[in-house]
Amino acid sequence: MTGFCADVDECIMMADREKLVKYEHFVNNVLREDLRILLEDREKLYENIAALSQLKQIIICISEDPHEEGLRTQVDLGSNFYIQAHVPDVSRIYVNVGLGFHIEFTLKEALTFIDKKLGILNEKLSESSKKSAKIKGQIRLCYEAIGELQALDKTKLTLICKMKVNKRDVPLKAVNINITKVWIISVFANFILWLLPIFFGKYTDVLFPYIAHNDITQELVGLIGPTENKFRMCPVVSPYLQNTLRLLDNNVDSLVDEEILMNNDIQAGGVWEPSDCNSRYHVALIIPYRNRSQHLQQFLTYMHPFLVRQQLKYRIVVVEQAEGVAFNRAKLFNIGFVETLKLSKADCFIFHDVDLLPQNDYNIYACTHHPRHMYSAVDTLRYHLPYRRLFGGAVAMQQVHFKKVNGFSNKFYGWGAEDDDMYNRIEQVGLSVIRFDPRVASYVMLSHSSVWRTEGRLEKLQDNKDDSEDGLSSLSYHVLDKKERSLYTWFLVSC
Ligand code: UDP
Ligand code: MN
Repeated sequence: MTGFCADVDECIMMADREKLVKYEHFVNNVLREDLRILLEDREKLYENIAALSQLKQIIICISEDPHEEGLRTQVDLGSNFYIQAHVPDVSRIYVNVGLGFHIEFTLKEALTFIDKKLGILNEKLSESSKKSAKIKGQIRLCYEAIGELQALDKTKLTLICKMKVNKRDVPLKAVNINITKVWIISVFANFILWLLPIFFGKYTDVLFPYIAHNDITQELVGLIGPTENKFRMCPVVSPYLQNTLRLLDNNVDSLVDEEILMNNDIQAGGVWEPSDCNSRYHVALIIPYRNRSQHLQQFLTYMHPFLVRQQLKYRIVVVEQAEGVAFNRAKLFNIGFVETLKLSKADCFIFHDVDLLPQNDYNIYACTHHPRHMYSAVDTLRYHLPYRRLFGGAVAMQQVHFKKVNGFSNKFYGWGAEDDDMYNRIEQVGLSVIRFDPRVASYVMLSHSSVWRTEGRLEKLQDNKDDSEDGLSSLSYHVLDKKERSLYTWFLVSC
């Protein structure tokens, strides 16, 4: 212990403060730096894997359909200039094997090489995920320790003050023992949380099954043949996805409409589709809304470029509930579904809170064979799902599935349980809920104060289990106003 302190209590506090400074230094200068380097490396790994997978797909395409007359292609000269090229013999290919060396392979040899290389890269990836989970665990542990020390500091100060005011000789040590107990229990609990990823190799959400990173593309449901014969189909995974972890925290810009439009060629109504290929995925994002203008602007600023990069054909629909009655998130989703189908032929619907933002570029906003709960990890829940049947925040459902379950219940006014009711509906029609790997499906939530949980919601959830009439088939509402605004389609409804 350094420095001078007037009495024992003050000495203890100074010692705690010293520890505090040490912990903070360790988190900021050592752990966070390690994590940054690790994430950068992982980013490169993802890029390599994406490049190799794309090459593999091209080779498979060529070998399945070997053109006798060779291959016509376009070569990027840079600055958006392309030149036409003709490859007379496509039976052999040069592959970059690293360190600037290129080897001539037959297509079969190239595929074997790529598969081996992908295997190695995926191993590295999982190794790096283990390491990052470990560092994140350590950071969490340190933050807990810092929090405890700060709490301890404050508690002691109050105690000392009280003792001085009351001039009573309260045995500080006895009080300390209780605080120490709390501290030990909390450290122990966090230690267990920290150990889980080491044993399971990934997030603790490994306790809930999810689709592994490499299997995600097989789960996506998209068009497989050209529909409008305009262009070729876009690839299954867009080549414009580069950064895996695009968003590190919930400090998100909020640009004005004109700035967003300047960078992206969005059509009125918040509609977009690729101009050079037919998108496989026709998606509508339905946003329930009331009095969250700041969040909506942040959402549009972040999500438009995100969806454009994914080469989706999409429309963003905001369904605003007029004042008067309690907010009914689920009913707004039902209304959004019905009204959107009058405007476009979306076959995939994503029902999405306005305050949730996906952190990872590879979290593709398309539908899957089963309804998908979009977040496997979210910052506000410390990146751990609290229960397996969670279906809140953001979910993706095929149009046919949403009709099959008769949409959401219309009965849940106020906060909570409408999402759990949807989980029941999905189970009742024999579908199941899936999630993607938490590394891909991680989210941040824009800050807001927590909403008062509505009383009686759990009883209603229980009662509603057999009500098959409640939903799209019993939906009643009035559209008070609607507009194709520059960045979204807007409905003002009373319901
Ligand atoms: N919402 C809104 N205004 C409200 C309450 C809710 O626009 O007054 C919408 C908004 O899209 C929000 C979602 O409903 O993201 C879920 O509400 P909230 O974020 O309050 O719920 P929580 O994050 O606590 O689940
Ligand atoms: Mn929220």
